[in-house]
Amino acid sequence: MTGETSREAPGGTARRPAPSWHALSPREVTARLDVDPERGLDEPQARARRLRYGPNRLAAAKRRSVWRVVYDQVASALVVLLLGASVVAAIVGDLLDAVVILAVVVLNAVMGLRQELRAERAMEALRAMLAPRATVRREGRVVQLPAEALVPGDVVLVGAGDRVPADARLLRVEGLEVDESALTGESVPVAKRVERVPEDAPLGDRASMIWMNTVVTRGRGEAMVVATGMATEMGRVARLLQQTEEEPTPLQRELDALGKRLAAVAGLVVLLVFGLGWLRGEPLVQLALTSIALAVAAIPEGLPAVVSVTLALGMHRMAQQRAIVRRMAAVETLGATTVICTDKTGTLTLNQMTARRLWAGGCEARVSGSGYVAEGAIEPLGPPLPSELRRALLEVAVLCNDAVVTDAGELRGDPTEGSLLVLAGKGGVRAEEVRAEAPRLGELPFDSSRKFMVTLHGGADGGARLAVKGAIDVLLERCAKLAAPRGEVPLDEAGRTEVLAQAEAMAAEGLRVLALAERRFERVPSEHDPATLDELARQLTLLGVVGLEDPPRPEAAEAIALCRRAGIRVKMITGDHRATAVAIAERLGLPTEVMEGPRIEAADEATLRAQAQRCAVFARVSPEHKVRLVEALRAEGEVVAMTGDGVNDAPALKRADIGVAMGQSGTEVAKEAADVVLADDNFATIVGAVREGRTIYGNLVKFVTFQVSTNIGAILTVAGAGLLGLPMPLTAVQLLWVNIIMDGPPAMALGLDPPQADAMRSPPRDPRSRILNVRRLGWMLLAGIVMAAGTLWTLHQAVPRWGVVEARTLAFTTFVLFQVWGALDAHLGGEPPWSRYLLTNGRLWGALGTVVLLQALAVHWPWAQRVMGTTSLDVHHWSLALGVAASLGVLAVVRRATGWLRPRSLV
Ligand code: ATP
Repeated sequence: MTGETSREAPGGTARRPAPSWHALSPREVTARLDVDPERGLDEPQARARRLRYGPNRLAAAKRRSVWRVVYDQVASALVVLLLGASVVAAIVGDLLDAVVILAVVVLNAVMGLRQELRAERAMEALRAMLAPRATVRREGRVVQLPAEALVPGDVVLVGAGDRVPADARLLRVEGLEVDESALTGESVPVAKRVERVPEDAPLGDRASMIWMNTVVTRGRGEAMVVATGMATEMGRVARLLQQTEEEPTPLQRELDALGKRLAAVAGLVVLLVFGLGWLRGEPLVQLALTSIALAVAAIPEGLPAVVSVTLALGMHRMAQQRAIVRRMAAVETLGATTVICTDKTGTLTLNQMTARRLWAGGCEARVSGSGYVAEGAIEPLGPPLPSELRRALLEVAVLCNDAVVTDAGELRGDPTEGSLLVLAGKGGVRAEEVRAEAPRLGELPFDSSRKFMVTLHGGADGGARLAVKGAIDVLLERCAKLAAPRGEVPLDEAGRTEVLAQAEAMAAEGLRVLALAERRFERVPSEHDPATLDELARQLTLLGVVGLEDPPRPEAAEAIALCRRAGIRVKMITGDHRATAVAIAERLGLPTEVMEGPRIEAADEATLRAQAQRCAVFARVSPEHKVRLVEALRAEGEVVAMTGDGVNDAPALKRADIGVAMGQSGTEVAKEAADVVLADDNFATIVGAVREGRTIYGNLVKFVTFQVSTNIGAILTVAGAGLLGLPMPLTAVQLLWVNIIMDGPPAMALGLDPPQADAMRSPPRDPRSRILNVRRLGWMLLAGIVMAAGTLWTLHQAVPRWGVVEARTLAFTTFVLFQVWGALDAHLGGEPPWSRYLLTNGRLWGALGTVVLLQALAVHWPWAQRVMGTTSLDVHHWSLALGVAASLGVLAVVRRATGWLRPRSLV
């Protein structure tokens, strides 16, 4: 076993105080931790260290225990009420009722518990999907691991946008800057270096260290992990991972308020029923039991819980479709999205870049072949490119480049850069050789705001060479010369015009345009830091322009068309050239009115608002512009979803109603700022998530309609009987039975209804609209009145003919059958009655079948008869109950046919 008798114990599990890693040299650090930084740990070593130091995570946020969930279920006021009722029944000797009520409490708790545990498991699975990852060197290979798997001695690679996964000593940096505000409160990013720092330096000055959970804002670095988990500085100051309590979503708040209002009404009715019964001299205990049961049946106590369960299960379904939702409220908002602002590269396109065109020294060429294998050739379209110029261009393409492409055509790194390596290969320039001959001395990494990248290389002759690539407009400003077949010429207006015309022509074909330039020095410049390179990258010589193809995703055009039908506008936002953006927009079926980054910057508030609404394409945009765009659109009342991947995109993602981060190409920071993470980076997935969001909202509407109309029905039935001087239509136990049906499986099944055909055919709902608008309330009231009237009429007809017990059984059965029709009406939603949609959702049909079956048992099984206070019904009775209950079905058909209180689209 190598090195597991480690001489130094890193981190807080040390038996001796941990060494001051910042004050040691990199060599001392690697020696103490006994790791070769070029190879990293071996797996057996890593396993042994993991056993010793434990997983790299901060003390887990406390999870609700199962007992707590049970307690929360049982501890509601209604349950206390029911238990009280049970005790009262037991005291007066009505043991059967006491037991039945207890059984109801248990049943309710079990059902609620099952749902909650399911929801909790779904959330747990989501959290696992979002676990942060780290880039690590192990056994000589760079791999991605869950950050939790890191151990002291691991070599981690960090770059802009990463969250530092553990405390680590830097071994190498390239313009590395880190935002340490999470740890030190200091909001200005700190520049990092490799050199030792005095031992007594305060935490914020230890520039040779990076700390867990701080954020890399620029550059990149390589560092050796010295402390993990609770042994890190983060762990030490006990700033535990923020497990923010989920706030109630707007919908939950609205339904909570509704529940309270209904409870108040129910309370009044209960008092009324009690008062009337008392005046009539009914036995007080029975009256009390019935009143309590009525309260239980009439108060929709389960509403907020159902909303969270439905949202949680919806989140789980979305995750299966590759949209991982991080905040529950986002599910609701998704359904109301009116504008989707999406990146082009990788989201609308495949991000599989292939160089197709080349222009240098006045000569044009076409490039054949596809993918990342160097099969194909650079074929001149006219006079061939001068060979020296061609070589210089391809060398810069390889040098100013971090990607690696294996012989098998496997890409590691940025596709834009990978395509340049392949291009060089097709032109006979081998990346490894060129890179070995001209070692890199410094770099200014690519950045979406800067739009170019610079590297500095030493040469065999003692000179140096600056290799630069980037967006054409940015590079032209920095170039003074143009490479021509016979040496360099000054870059005059004519030259500029020609270069721009070439770039424009490539862009018009939908190609991403990249300019390549260089500058040579006789001696190596003394400073190589990024700021100096930025300064040096002027007076450049433009070598040529490359056009890269990146095909649109096959499913993107269809998803955009779907959005159009759904009243959602799509806006493409890209850092690319205007003409490239327009060409791609055309292929995707987007309108091609464009606004460019510089104009966004210059525009005043009012102009920007108007333009943001009007244009569908935004080109040459940098992340800062995205923030302005989001704000302009939101100020116009739009509900905006915005995508992003880089560290600079985080502010725009936070500002948007729905921030959407890329799961594959996105940085950890973007993912943390987002509400939704796309596991496949695909635009169509966003649209799928919107559809799912609309469906979930629609299902909640269905659920609420069903449950509240039943609540109203129960209140009106019991209150009506009291007012009309009829006997109590439902006993306490029967009321509780109805309550189980309402809260139970049929209601839950409505929350899981499949999407309706019109889910993406109607405009987005107004986010300010309430779930209970006048139309919906009107229907609930009407349905409640019909249920009460039907039940009371049956009772009224039956009492003189068959006596109270039989009449009550009949009324009870009628009321239950009304619920079946109510559930089917809710299930149909905006669909016509003959729609095939009626037959979907087997779970609902199963639940309704079970309800009817159980009702038959409750009526015909002698044991159940005793418990429920029922008696057998004959065919005549059943037909009567079925016929009366069907009136609600007739009403449901009529309202759809006439447009009167029609359940327009639910979304
Ligand atoms: P999209 O919004 O379409 O996803 P983007 O906003 O990510 O694209 P950027 O990656 O910012 O676009 O690229 C903007 C421009 O910067 C490109 O048109 C290209 O000219 C240049 N560019 C892109 N990648 C690199 C790179 N690795 N090195 C140098 N220049 C680059």
